[in-house]
Amino acid sequence: MSPSRPFYVTTPIFYISGTPHIGHAYTTIAADVLVRTARAHGPARALTGTDEHGQKVANAAAAAGMTPQEYVDSLAPRWRELAPVFDARFDDFIRTTEPRHVTTCLALFDRMRAKGDVYEGVYEGWYCTHDETFWPEAKLIDGRCPNAECRRPVQWLSEKNWFFRLSKYNAPLLAHFRANPDFLRPQSRYNEMMALLEEGLEDFSISRSSFDWGIPLPGGGVLYVWYDALINYISALGWPDDADGLFAEFWPGMHLIGKEIARFHTIIWPAMLWSADLPLPARVFAHGWITGDGGLKIGKSLGNAMDPYLLVEEFGADALRYFLLREAPFGSDFSISVDKLRQRHNSDLGNDLGNLLRRSLAMLAKYRDGLVPEPSDGRVSEFVADLPVLVRDHVSALRFREALDEIWNLVALLNRAIDEQKPWELHKAGRGVELDALLYDLCEGMRWLSVLLFPFMPTKSTAIWEQLGLEGTPERAWADALVWGGLAAGTQTNPGAPLFPRIEPPAA
Ligand SMILES: [Zn+2]
Repeated sequence: MSPSRPFYVTTPIFYISGTPHIGHAYTTIAADVLVRTARAHGPARALTGTDEHGQKVANAAAAAGMTPQEYVDSLAPRWRELAPVFDARFDDFIRTTEPRHVTTCLALFDRMRAKGDVYEGVYEGWYCTHDETFWPEAKLIDGRCPNAECRRPVQWLSEKNWFFRLSKYNAPLLAHFRANPDFLRPQSRYNEMMALLEEGLEDFSISRSSFDWGIPLPGGGVLYVWYDALINYISALGWPDDADGLFAEFWPGMHLIGKEIARFHTIIWPAMLWSADLPLPARVFAHGWITGDGGLKIGKSLGNAMDPYLLVEEFGADALRYFLLREAPFGSDFSISVDKLRQRHNSDLGNDLGNLLRRSLAMLAKYRDGLVPEPSDGRVSEFVADLPVLVRDHVSALRFREALDEIWNLVALLNRAIDEQKPWELHKAGRGVELDALLYDLCEGMRWLSVLLFPFMPTKSTAIWEQLGLEGTPERAWADALVWGGLAAGTQTNPGAPLFPRIEPPAA
């Protein structure tokens, strides 16, 4: 996220026949905060989409009495609607059944083959259809899929397939990991992948010939679904047909993923890119898993507290975004509960932030007819000087929680200024200059909060902006917007509804 380089972030493409859950919301929100922060500093782009091929999809379509294409078409809208529900704004949504994706996959396959990295062989081995993964006999547990989340029966496959010479890239990958410890974060995932690399990589099959729901290869068979899926990150940028356009501007990008798919993104995908003489991803960050406890009472019924749609209905998108990124370091596993969410909503958001805005504007209305006084230049202006750089550095390093901690230091400073300087006493004592200075600090401080919080809470930060009587939205270049004194004297403020009205626990 340097000022000179355009920024590109991706979520994994979501498996089309899955059900949207809190983990999808988490990745989507984090990607959105990253790209909104980057957009405040220069060109930035975010991608999400759906993974639509594979035997599991074909089986599900057959069970639903549809063709695979009809089936995926019927499910795609639910994934397109996911980001807007969480107020996330992506520049592109790619489906792996789109022609633009098919073209890129076949071009990449040809390049790798021309390089001598793709060869024909017979694959015989165990396959977990649920995970779309081949497993060596030695890895099976009680004859079943070794994935702890799965443990389903595996099937024996014997197929003539195309193989990728992954083993050739073992040493270069090791060297790359050693030279670039930030290539994969957090450290725990990095260590896991290093262990796999040290153990040694085997060539693997990148096509299937026993079923046909995939990208067809000349001479028969279809691409292995994972091989096909990973390529979405560059097919959405128009490689190779339009390689001078978005691809030249935005690649390499950064991948946000769940920790369970680190191997595909940091070993297989980089090797594929290397083979095609393309740049490796800039960074990969594997976030943790969220668990939940307790149910969620919405109206009269009890819902699943892990259902992100119910949480948005109860708390709003902005509060959920804030909660998920403030509750735990990005990269760690953590648990959520409706009680914790309600508590953060009422204290951090309602008491600290919402009341700050309400109190500040109420005093301005009472003592100055709601008009912003002349700019002051005191304690708050000094405090905020380094804030944009701190927040941006934290966000760039995926330290969302620390970024919010910094922003909340400003919230606390402004609240403390009211409590300590007691504007009502300044007013009574006729100390108008000091009162003006304090009121200006509060309003200008709120304007800064609105700009800094926009990536995290786009709707509520816009409400702050509007209540301050400002035109447009707080979506601005930070270099221009975050200059102390930007709020003009004489601006007529416009107090409105409370930002985060208190949410009471449901009656027992
Ligand atoms: Zn499995």
